Amino acid sequence: MENLSDRLNRLSPSATLAMSQRSSELKAQGVDVINLSVGEPDFNTPDHIKEAAKKAIDDNYSKYSPVPGYPALKNAIVAKLKNENGLDYAPSQILCSNGAKQSVCNTIMAIINAGDEVIIPAPYWVSYPQMVKLADGEPVIVEATIEQDFKITPEQLEAAITPKTRALILCSPSNPTGSVYSLEELEALKDVLLRHERVIVIADEIYEHINYVGSHASMASFPDIKDRVVIINGVSKAYAMTGWRIGFIAAPEWIVKGCNKLQGQYTSGPCSVSQKAAEAAYTGSQECVEQMRQAFERRKNLIVRLAKEIPGFEVREPKGAFYLFPKCSFYFGKKDGDRTINNSTDFAMYLLEVGHVATVGGDAFGSPECFRMSYATSDENIIEAMRRIKDTVARLK
Ligand code: PMP
Ligand code: GLU
Repeated sequence: MENLSDRLNRLSPSATLAMSQRSSELKAQGVDVINLSVGEPDFNTPDHIKEAAKKAIDDNYSKYSPVPGYPALKNAIVAKLKNENGLDYAPSQILCSNGAKQSVCNTIMAIINAGDEVIIPAPYWVSYPQMVKLADGEPVIVEATIEQDFKITPEQLEAAITPKTRALILCSPSNPTGSVYSLEELEALKDVLLRHERVIVIADEIYEHINYVGSHASMASFPDIKDRVVIINGVSKAYAMTGWRIGFIAAPEWIVKGCNKLQGQYTSGPCSVSQKAAEAAYTGSQECVEQMRQAFERRKNLIVRLAKEIPGFEVREPKGAFYLFPKCSFYFGKKDGDRTINNSTDFAMYLLEVGHVATVGGDAFGSPECFRMSYATSDENIIEAMRRIKDTVARLK
């Protein structure tokens, strides 16, 4: 009997990874597809980080590491939090995992009981509601419209909180919108949360360094709520290290201990060689981070300009991350021959199959009127992709 568990049957596959897979399949068939679907830096990992990994292999970092990560990596993260964010954490408050994805999932698994509600502002990163469902929790989606720059207000947060609310997942800079909460905006949300002691904030800061408006603001910087904040971060985006799989949480010790217990039964400590590479990323020169940030900013300016030239798109200028999330609902109900575009998933499939540009429909991000493009690719790819999209949507009548 090929019956998967109810738990898995409730789960949707990752739309970002599915679209990327579809794009790779078409490429393998010889179709010239431009992939703007998956969000990962197109840069190679900087040389000094790769050298540290090679050395780690030669130095025989080939055994199990402690479950929460090597002390040297945790110390490097503690120093990063102090120097870059002005935050004080002890090494016992850090736990490293197989990418920030596992860090988010560990945290949810560690604190959510069946029926607990987790507030997730939409548009959201595709995996959050699925992870909550995996933990038998209830995602409570709070819609942040394009008009409000895709950010929730304190009033919306207050209205969404119930006695069952256990967590809020806040992603800034945001995947998929690129919106960034200012310190003042975070403070206003924090003031609401202070009235609800049971609510933990899962602050996903994985795009911290890809910021076009200046310094990064963290919910953990408010002393009166810090003991309820779990920072999610890692090396994937800032150091172009998506394949190395190192993320971390910085959190109250009781949550770290819980995640440690879970991880100890589930995956053990993350890859030993990757940990040494991540340590080099945090302790080495940070010049590479700024160089990549500047490239992303230039590409952001390029894609925003080109997207604004496409009739029917509503475009908000992103303030961080490397995604553009235009509204495309103007095209819903329109046809190309006998093909009708009914929703954003249809729209993304149409762009892929007819325009040969892979994007992701907004449905998977809880925002069915929009679609997502990752501009972590070359200027040439961006220019060609936007030309193709413009020509393709012009066929829709
Ligand atoms: N959070 C967000 C918002 C992301 O976009 C990603 C990238 N997939 C992650 C977490 C997970 O990152 P990692 O590759 O380190 O698992
Ligand atoms: N963060 C990336 C994205 O959203 C990676 C894919 C994933 O992990 O879902 O496209």
